[in-house]
Amino acid sequence: MLRVSGVNTFHGHIHVLRNISFRVKPGQLVAIIGANGAGKSTLLGTLASLYPPRDGLVAIEGEVVTKYRPDIMVKKGISLVPERRQVFDGLSVLDNFLLGAYHRYNKDRKTVNQEAQEVLELFPALKGKEEEYAGNLSGGLQQMVAIGRGLMAKPKVLLLDEPSVGLAPMVVKEIMGILKGLKERGTTIVLVEQNAKAALKVADRAYVMERGEMILEGTASELLKDPRVEHAYLGKGYHLAEEVS
Ligand code: ATP
Repeated sequence: MLRVSGVNTFHGHIHVLRNISFRVKPGQLVAIIGANGAGKSTLLGTLASLYPPRDGLVAIEGEVVTKYRPDIMVKKGISLVPERRQVFDGLSVLDNFLLGAYHRYNKDRKTVNQEAQEVLELFPALKGKEEEYAGNLSGGLQQMVAIGRGLMAKPKVLLLDEPSVGLAPMVVKEIMGILKGLKERGTTIVLVEQNAKAALKVADRAYVMERGEMILEGTASELLKDPRVEHAYLGKGYHLAEEVS
């Protein structure tokens, strides 16, 4: 579905992504975990063409899309849910959803409106709030709005940048449950997270990123057991604590 090969991305003179390669199969949820500043957001920005790579390639379903503009990337099937949600505060929940399908709205308003209702069904917590301003909602509900807006683009691959950031543990659990549900319905997801524990619990495969490089990869259950991941990202004694809780 998604193939990234030998990607190098710079911010000005700073070489941020170093020879990044990975693959995502259809229907997989792939997590990319790493500390602050590892380059995770730059990677998602590269996939969405916000930060075009200096070299390397990005391909969706075999088509190389590396040099397309961000708006074309949306049409090609890449939809980015940015960090810190970035909903349109002064617009309703429904209008936020509709903006996710801006490239189709004028051609077929009826279908897009119907799809917005279908997306709403995926978020029971938003039911009855569709006319509320997104800016008045809690962080967790705003995250749902942002995910819903991403889904309205009908992506082949949904990219999520740290959906857990700033949310209480219970809400993180709810959001991760939603991602699991989306995966089970066949959505292909790339999830970037500092919250390694939450991400590895829902992911099929995962990659660990450090200083712009992928340093480890494996199934989520392999990485949950890997002492290097435990030491650096889960906290010492994580397994013992999990067994008790
Ligand atoms: P965070 O969790 O803080 O978002 P991250 O893993 O997503 O971290 P990036 O935001 O991709 O990491 O940042 C990687 C490096 O690139 C950092 O050193 C950061 O300072 C730098 N960087 C990110 N965006 C820019 C930019 N627009 N211009 C210059 N440097 C940037």
